[in-house]
Amino acid sequence: MRDSNLLFRALASLALLALTACAHTPSPPAASEEPIVLMIGLDGLRFDAIDRWDAPNLRALAARGTRPDHMIPVMPSKTFTNFYSLATGLYPDRHGMISNAPYDRRFDAVYSNREGGAQDPRWWGGEPIWITAETQNIRSGTMFWPGSEIEHDGVRPSIWHAYVHEMPYEDRVAEVLSWFDASAGQRPRLATIYFDHVDTITHRAGPFTPEEGEAVARVDALVGALVEGLTRRGLIERTNIIIVSDHGMVPVSMERRIALDALADLDGLFIPEFAGRYGAGLEPLVMGYGDGEIVDRVYTALNGADDRISVYRRGAMPDAWHFDHPDRGPDLLVLAEPGWLLTLSDADFSGPWPAGMHGAHGYDNRDESMGATFIGAGPIFPAGTRPAAFESVDVYLMIACALGLDPAPTDGDPAEVARITGGRCPAN
Ligand code: AMP
Ligand code: ZN
Ligand code: ZN
Repeated sequence: MRDSNLLFRALASLALLALTACAHTPSPPAASEEPIVLMIGLDGLRFDAIDRWDAPNLRALAARGTRPDHMIPVMPSKTFTNFYSLATGLYPDRHGMISNAPYDRRFDAVYSNREGGAQDPRWWGGEPIWITAETQNIRSGTMFWPGSEIEHDGVRPSIWHAYVHEMPYEDRVAEVLSWFDASAGQRPRLATIYFDHVDTITHRAGPFTPEEGEAVARVDALVGALVEGLTRRGLIERTNIIIVSDHGMVPVSMERRIALDALADLDGLFIPEFAGRYGAGLEPLVMGYGDGEIVDRVYTALNGADDRISVYRRGAMPDAWHFDHPDRGPDLLVLAEPGWLLTLSDADFSGPWPAGMHGAHGYDNRDESMGATFIGAGPIFPAGTRPAAFESVDVYLMIACALGLDPAPTDGDPAEVARITGGRCPAN
């Protein structure tokens, strides 16, 4: 009697196992299985890149998860600005990283990675998601992310690294996977990892080139290795994998450059983009700081001077940009049409860079060419859905929901989070 009961139970569990194995959608994790979020940052991956190039691992994630048409980056469509909005759920006017190297009137200084800016909290406003997690007793690990080197009131990610551009990608993957070998209480439940590769290659070669295809294949393989590593550790079903990029990319050429000093007397206007170590480069947008008279003079000269540029005074920029940080919002913004680049007539183009630049970003965030990639796969994402575009400031709330965190105030829209997650988030 006892034996046949055991046999029956063994057969029943076998049948259940077989059923689970046949079902193509993973079964939802049991309540005892604590959810994990792995956010993978793929710099410069245009929203349409995985349609144009072979990317089996990213496409597989999209098929078992959610891939909105594209993700709308924040303005300007630059790297630090966007990765930090993804981490904080804030627009740049609230987090302060309004470019890769903003100027601050109060500090009278320009942000610089070389001068320790990455670890100087005065540049980085808001509360990144890893700080929200740590303060609510969820461990986090960051294998690079702009803003992740900052201590917030004594709190940091449990594991974090100062940025090392040269660290081999495979080593990054191996280390992140090794975090998950720890015991359940010790391993992070929020992890980030970052790869510059597609951005680096497409700046040089341009998007829509075979080089872009090779770069997409390379990061796709890294994503595949991460998925495989989590699968091997039995963690994949409880993990929400979130693939994000920071912006798109558009082809540019030395033939399409505009020398601003040929159109206006820029004397007295401080333009951080033209004051760096290498002087004027080739820029999709520049920010000007100066006294009212100077700003008026330059605005009047530039406005209408060239139909491939737009000029904005402080207070007159599109509201949708959410860009005018109190101490950092520029007095004047000059923005090129996608594909055109701003420079000065005496800029030095004798070397390989920036003369060899064939791709750029930083243009109006609402232009489709700047559209970023988002793919979410795991418990909070419905399978195989392709909702319309959404804004990157909503990602923080998705992660908070996935981990059951009480979110800090953000610019994210819970209704949008519900739309993208098919109603699974925000959870109460
Ligand atoms: P961009 O100039 O906008 O194309 O920025 C891309 C570059 O930002 C990459 O090539 C990286 O070298 C750099 N970068 C990305 N993340 C970080 C970070 N956390 N700290 C310092 N530099 C970074
Ligand atoms: Zn970038
Ligand atoms: Zn870039």
